[in-house]
Formats: sequence, structure tokens, C-alpha cells
Amino acid sequence: MTDCLFCRMVAGEVPATVVHETDRTLAFRDINPQAPTHVLVVPKQHHPTVAALAEADPDLLAAVVRAAAAVAVQEGLATEDGVEPGYRVVTNTGPQAGQSVPHVHLHVLGGRDLTWPPG
Ligand code: AMP
Ligand code: ZN
Repeated sequence: MTDCLFCRMVAGEVPATVVHETDRTLAFRDINPQAPTHVLVVPKQHHPTVAALAEADPDLLAAVVRAAAAVAVQEGLATEDGVEPGYRVVTNTGPQAGQSVPHVHLHVLGGRDLTWPPG
């Protein structure tokens, strides 16, 4: 989709600070970080929501989750075989949850104590 911000970032038309990439996924730093580590993980293919992605391509959803886990390890938020110090994966869906970009993305947040419940 040419008018989709994250499709344009995948295409290299909008700059991104890329921290992880696979053949099907891209991870880049959020431009307005909410924690010391705040990375967005997206499928390169456009899907509007996590539910739509799960319906259309469960393997791709799994690839996006694996990429988020790899980012967490890379950022020092977890180890290959452990969950210390820990991190949060968030996907906002729809306007009341604050989804502002209609291309599914996982927020990977960490590097500080994260409050629960989120606001
Ligand atoms: P959401 O509000 O859950 O849809 O998340 C969209 C995220 O994209 C927000 O956290 C924004 O800060 C982030 N964002 C918007 N534009 C850019 C950009 N050009 N580069 C990186 N992150 C962006
Ligand atoms: Zn898109």
C-alpha cells in the first residue's frame, strides 16, 4: 500500500533506524520512544491488524513474534534461554486502543520497570 507509512518504511522510501531484519519482517526504533528500548516489529507484507494477520498468514504472525523475541535478546532484555530482565510486547488495535498506523506492528518495550495495568 503506497499510502501506508510502514509499507513505505519497508520499501525504503521513509527512513528507519533498523535494528533487525529477516526476509519477511523488519524491526526499527520507534520515533517517539516510551521506554529505553522501544522497537516496532512489522511484517513486510501489509496486514491491518494482528487478528487479520493471524487469519491471513499464521506463519507470518509467528515470524513477527520470533523477530520480537530476537530483538529483545539483541537489546539485552532477555537471553536465549531466560526472561531476565524482561520486556513487554504490545499491539494496539483500533482507535480506542490508540492504533495510529493501520499496518500491524508489535511494540517491544523494555529497559525500565513497566507498570501494570498499562494506561
Ligand atoms: P500505534 O500508535 O500503536 O499505532 O503505534 C505507532 C507507532 O509508530 C507510534 O509509537 C509512533 O511513535 C511510531 N511512529 C510513527 N511514525 C514513525 C516513524 N517515522 N518512525 C518510527 N516510528 C514511528
Ligand atoms: Zn502497510
